Amino acid sequence: MDLKSKIRVIEGFPKEGISFKDITTVLQDKDAFRECIYQLAEAFRNEEVDMVVGPEARGFLIGAPLAYELGVGFVPVRKPGKLPAETISFEYELEYGTDTLEIHKDAIKPGQKVLVIDDLLATGGTVHSTVKMIEELGGEVVGIGFFIELEFLNGRKLLEDYNVKSLVKY
Ligand code: 5GP
Repeated sequence: MDLKSKIRVIEGFPKEGISFKDITTVLQDKDAFRECIYQLAEAFRNEEVDMVVGPEARGFLIGAPLAYELGVGFVPVRKPGKLPAETISFEYELEYGTDTLEIHKDAIKPGQKVLVIDDLLATGGTVHSTVKMIEELGGEVVGIGFFIELEFLNGRKLLEDYNVKSLVKY
């Protein structure tokens, strides 16, 4: 199946000059959704994975079904103040200002092999922060997977030490 053809591209969202890749059209198509999760599972089937970690919110939509398919657990990474138990956080630079992400301190055990999943790789800041928190907790990042990669933003540079795979490239 041509998954790229199922992605809806919206020009000028959320602001002028951005060509937004809308994955809701993939999620609402039962065959495309299944194919997306299946292809990501295949991409990492040979890795030993103990846990999938995904950042909010679209990382949940892809990461949780992938974890289910791989038969492992899922850990959410969230914006500050959303996770109820003890957390660690990581602050990262945006074009204007900074952003912070959090993960539960007890979610990853030292030595666990972790697969990080998000819907889309742009500059790489979101997933890079996620990786740093996993490593702070003693986890080993064995793979990083994206449904979509915006190659022209060169986010892979920030993740060059890792096994990065994506299904659809722009
Ligand atoms: P990065 O941190 O790599 O610059 O940005 C990636 C994050 O922004 C991802 O969590 C992703 O959900 C979101 N994002 C940025 N642009 C798009 C887009 O065009 N489509 C979608 N679905 N998500 C985007």
